[in-house]
Amino acid sequence: MVRPSVPAADRLIGVRRPVLSHGFVALVDYMGNDAAIVQAARVSYGAGTKAVRDDRGLIRYLLRHRHTTPFEMVEFKFLVRLPIYVARQWVRHRTASLNEYSQRYSVVPDEFDLPTPDEVRRQSSRNRQGRGDPLPPDVVERFRQDLTRVSAASYAAYQRALQDGVARETARLLLPLAYYTEWYWKCNLWNLLHFLSLRLDPHAQEEIRLYAAEIASMVKVVCPIAYEAFDDFVLHATLLGAKESVALSALLEGASVEQACARAGLPLVREDGKPMTSGEGIEFLEKLDGIKRSTRV
Ligand SMILES: Cc1cc2nc3c(=O)[nH]c(=O)nc-3n(C[C@H](O)[C@H](O)[C@H](O)COP(=O)(O)OP(=O)(O)OC[C@H]3O[C@@H](n4cnc5c(N)ncnc54)[C@H](O)[C@@H]3O)c2cc1C
Repeated sequence: MVRPSVPAADRLIGVRRPVLSHGFVALVDYMGNDAAIVQAARVSYGAGTKAVRDDRGLIRYLLRHRHTTPFEMVEFKFLVRLPIYVARQWVRHRTASLNEYSQRYSVVPDEFDLPTPDEVRRQSSRNRQGRGDPLPPDVVERFRQDLTRVSAASYAAYQRALQDGVARETARLLLPLAYYTEWYWKCNLWNLLHFLSLRLDPHAQEEIRLYAAEIASMVKVVCPIAYEAFDDFVLHATLLGAKESVALSALLEGASVEQACARAGLPLVREDGKPMTSGEGIEFLEKLDGIKRSTRV
């Protein structure tokens, strides 16, 4: 029996795709492809499924109906170099296996993440976790200079501590979040798609989104049909709650947006009469806007 492989994916193995100032993602290995998903699904459904659905149709059906285990038959292993502040977000995904570079065992290289001027922006007024409008160039430059100066001072203190004989596990306390770490990260396709759904989302921090985008581009090569289904039914899908469905139904019957939202109990106006800027009603309007702007077929 020949090990299933995807020639285009084999060419990706070991290629370090740069992310941020000193980071990268490389595909180390993968097991399975779209065919492995189909093979697993046909075990549970029996050979009869071949007649009613082709492979693409079957994978799309499985994803739509959250028949998840066939997707777990595909595995990916990556080598990732990333700043500690990104690693803290990434490590929250508990359904992967990882092995991290030991800062207790090895000396940390002198590399910290320095955002480009474009990446240093004002605190977002709408999203408490995000950034928004540009800042004056002198503010951006001061931030970048401060980060460079603080990092250089921290690394000098780290080196001094090591020279003084302080243990590496203690000396590393001197290093800020912008310093890099490295790990092997292994995950099955289902959990990886979940990671991508959260970390490609515009609400996720820009830096982790860049890593997620690189990973997504590799998943696409290994499992193009599964990725297409994910892109369609998860990434660019619009999930409506029960109230939102009521409001949409009212809109389809000809109600105005205000009437539809009132009928569904989705508030657009605050108690003091001022328009709301966030909340369920506003999120429904954003979903409608997304649907109106949708051009994917
Ligand atoms: C935009 C954004 C902002 C965030 N902000 C914050 C923040 O401010 N503070 C913060 O602490 N975190 C924050 N997080 C992290 C977030 O709360 C999740 O921990 C992270 O996204 C991992 O999601 P997950 O648990 O679904 O993934 P995984 O850990 O990969 O788990 C996948 C799925 O497995 C199941 N699962 C795994 N472990 C368990 C378990 N122990 N119990 C029950 N079910 C389990 C769940 O169904 C889960 O969805 C943020 C995440 C995002 C994307």
